[in-house]
Amino acid sequence: MDYFRKGDLAGVQPLWTACGRCEYCLSGGRENLCPNKQVTGETLDGGYSEYMLADARYAYRIPAGIDETRDAPLFCPV
Ligand SMILES: [Zn+2]
Repeated sequence: MDYFRKGDLAGVQPLWTACGRCEYCLSGGRENLCPNKQVTGETLDGGYSEYMLADARYAYRIPAGIDETRDAPLFCPV
């Protein structure tokens, strides 16, 4: 699966990663309740940096031509 290509712009939601093994992760769509989750700005630094490592399960390819300044709040939890 090559969802991302070199040079793609990616957005990462605040839920940076989850364990994938607990009842919430295995129930599908409730990873935000995972007791072992990592959340940028809460348990992990780097959410507002220009570059960061990301778990591809919680990252999204941003289409070309998007207005980064206008649409960046789509990845903000507030
Ligand atoms: Zn979990």
